[in-house]
Amino acid sequence: MNTDKLILIVDDTPENVTILGEHLNEFKIKVALSGAKALTIAKSDPKPDIILLDIMMPEMDGYEVCNRLKQDSYTREIPIIFISAMNEVMDKVRGFELGAIDYITKPFQLEEVKSRINTHLTLASLQNRLRNINQELEQKVEERTVELLTAKNKAEESNRVKSNFLALMSHELRTPMAGILGFSEFLMSELENQIYVEFAKSINDSGLRLKNTLEAILNLTKLESEKIKPHYSEFDIIEESKTQLKGHEYNAQEKNLELLFKHDLDNSFIKLDKIMYQIIINNLVNNAIKYTTQGKVSIELFQELVDDIPYTCLKVTDTGIGIPSDKHEFIFEEFRQVDEGMRRNFEGVGLGLSLVKKYVALLEGRIILQSELRVGSTFTVYFPGKLRSISKHQIQDSISISMAKIKRKQHTDGIKPIILLVEDEVTNQKIAQLYLNDYCELQIAENGEKAIDLIKNNFFSAILMDINLGKGLSGLEVTKEIKKLEKCNDIPIIAYTAFALEGDREIFLNEGCTHYLPKPCSKDELIDFLNEVL
Ligand code: ADP
Repeated sequence: MNTDKLILIVDDTPENVTILGEHLNEFKIKVALSGAKALTIAKSDPKPDIILLDIMMPEMDGYEVCNRLKQDSYTREIPIIFISAMNEVMDKVRGFELGAIDYITKPFQLEEVKSRINTHLTLASLQNRLRNINQELEQKVEERTVELLTAKNKAEESNRVKSNFLALMSHELRTPMAGILGFSEFLMSELENQIYVEFAKSINDSGLRLKNTLEAILNLTKLESEKIKPHYSEFDIIEESKTQLKGHEYNAQEKNLELLFKHDLDNSFIKLDKIMYQIIINNLVNNAIKYTTQGKVSIELFQELVDDIPYTCLKVTDTGIGIPSDKHEFIFEEFRQVDEGMRRNFEGVGLGLSLVKKYVALLEGRIILQSELRVGSTFTVYFPGKLRSISKHQIQDSISISMAKIKRKQHTDGIKPIILLVEDEVTNQKIAQLYLNDYCELQIAENGEKAIDLIKNNFFSAILMDINLGKGLSGLEVTKEIKKLEKCNDIPIIAYTAFALEGDREIFLNEGCTHYLPKPCSKDELIDFLNEVL
């Protein structure tokens, strides 16, 4: 089996070499009568598969030869068997310490030498195979790592492209929506012929529906493609809920539904992501109204201890169509609805609850559904954390804020506020004029350069700043410039923009805008917002 192996016999006594050589004649044999010669042969090609090494030799003894062979990476792995008349334990130990694999004492049994050689050759060839396998594995791991790295880079790149695309889509779809919603709202209030008013309302309703669907799709895609973290801030959950419910009053009234709000809270300040809370309550209430034909929709805030952990809870109950129990899980999945296919009775794309579920999870909360067919449904969201009362320090703060507001109001007492709109889109300029004509004196800058010029030479109560201004400076660059002007320290700069994806608000506020209002918004929303700000 090992007959093609090359054995190097190193011994300064030619008789020993001859005896060994004859007995091992089934192998290929090379001979060295000195240490120096042994090194030369070992370093040549092909290198020996095993070396039988005498210790006691003149000039360079076997230990030294062994030592040198083990230092050299080319010869390091060649198995060495010492063959020596020195049979003290210490001699053997030294041999093994130097890296020999075996030690045979003279006089030796030829059969024993041969079988030891065979054993070590087999071991060496197994070791060799193992080494090769290891090398192959290492190479494969290396190749795989390179592949994974390339895939990771590709994924990151395509995520970046996707985010870019989302931002672009959000902006490009919202901008024409602003035109559709703005002008249809204006026509609704200006037209006299009731039929045309209905037409305008249909355009407005359809536009709103389209806008909501777009928003849900874009937000969900963004949630999936990026790691989004909640931005916690403290706010009054009672007031915030009331504000959000206002937006649903009209729909509830139209369906003759009672919209009730109650709470038993002593404290009302919660630390939560306000935008996520708004999305959660709006989706739940929107559904409750949509899937209820008679009766009421009630919204309740309360606190509860679960396993000794305090939760603040939002409960939305309706007297609507109910949800069959086998659908309780899957309505939280994307695009899943109780009624699917052509028989659908309700509008919607089936994204609201999946968004709610994702936001609740991001806020480390839970959502529980109880429902009975034809009786109604209750969605309860548990937000971890206790409510706080507002501290004296905060009361002081809010008093100063209201005083500041009063001062600002007094400043413009009896006079309309002067607002600067920085906006390059003619349609948006016209809508803002229609919305704000009675409310304020509106000046318009169609680009950043003109805006800076106007601001330097005039006084404005607030600035509505579009972010994408086409050519020239962007809204954020203009904001940075005007922030340098001392007179602008107190002027609210409202990022009034169609960039309205999850996370955009934070970007604009970080870049110097003091407020954020996504487009499109209705006349009432814009005026309410400005009233708040001013
Ligand atoms: P959408 O309402 O747009 O279809 P959602 O994700 O908000 O999407 O809801 C998924 C499905 O869950 C709805 O299609 C509806 O079948 C069911 N559903 C949600 N809320 C209610 C509710 N309050 N009452 C009855 N069914 C509901």
